[in-house]
Amino acid sequence: MDVRACKSCGKLFNYLSGPPICMACKDELEKKFQLVKEYIRDNKGASMQQIADDNEVPIKQLQQWVREERLEFTEESPIQIECESCGTLIRTGRFCEKCKDNMASGLTNAFKKEAPPPAPKKKPGGDGNHMRFLK
Ligand SMILES: [Zn+2]
Ligand SMILES: [Zn+2]
Repeated sequence: MDVRACKSCGKLFNYLSGPPICMACKDELEKKFQLVKEYIRDNKGASMQQIADDNEVPIKQLQQWVREERLEFTEESPIQIECESCGTLIRTGRFCEKCKDNMASGLTNAFKKEAPPPAPKKKPGGDGNHMRFLK
């Protein structure tokens, strides 16, 4: 069991995966997300600051949703974020089309460079039925 303090409200909870926040806060965040999504649909020209103020969501959270490609902005929106690789302004995700293309072609003769999330639970190629305990 992995008990952690919720990053958002400080309550202790059973940590499973993903961001270290408790179920209640996760639900709350999900509600906010739906709210923001609707807000953006109704206010296509809203700026990041406006969205943050009107929905009481930190800009950082908004940006994270954009990076996760959960939020997308239309042509009418002034909101753009920088490609993490070359700095070109894009509307969603982490990289521009050009960098995505470069990465895709780079994959043909190299292994995926992206680091796996830390602390994988299962080791690939483990030895089947034998359980080992490390001291
Ligand atoms: Zn919480
Ligand atoms: Zn780029």
